[in-house]
Amino acid sequence: MADLHFCPNPECQADQRDKEIPDEHKHLFGGDGWFYRTIGVYAYDHTLFYQCPDCGGAWHRFPLGHYLYHKAAEYMRAHNLQDFTPKTSEV
Ligand SMILES: [Zn+2]
Repeated sequence: MADLHFCPNPECQADQRDKEIPDEHKHLFGGDGWFYRTIGVYAYDHTLFYQCPDCGGAWHRFPLGHYLYHKAAEYMRAHNLQDFTPKTSEV
C-alpha cells in the first residue's frame, strides 16, 4: 500500500518515486529500490495514512476494519482531505 508508484488521484497520478536507492544501500531499505516522495501522515503514534506531495490527495495505509483505518478516516475528514484509496487494494 505504501509503495504506490503513482498517486491514486486520477486527476494527478504523479510519480511518487524520487531517486533510485544506490545498489550498495538497497538491502537497508527493502521495498523496490526507490525513495518515495509520498508523505506519511503521522498521528496517534503511527504513520496513519499517506498523502501525495503534489495534489494533497490521501490514501489509507490500514485496511478497512482496522481501528487505525477509522482514525485515519476521521483525520482526513477533519482536515478536508480527499480519500483516493484504490478500491482494488490488496492488503
Ligand atoms: Zn497526487
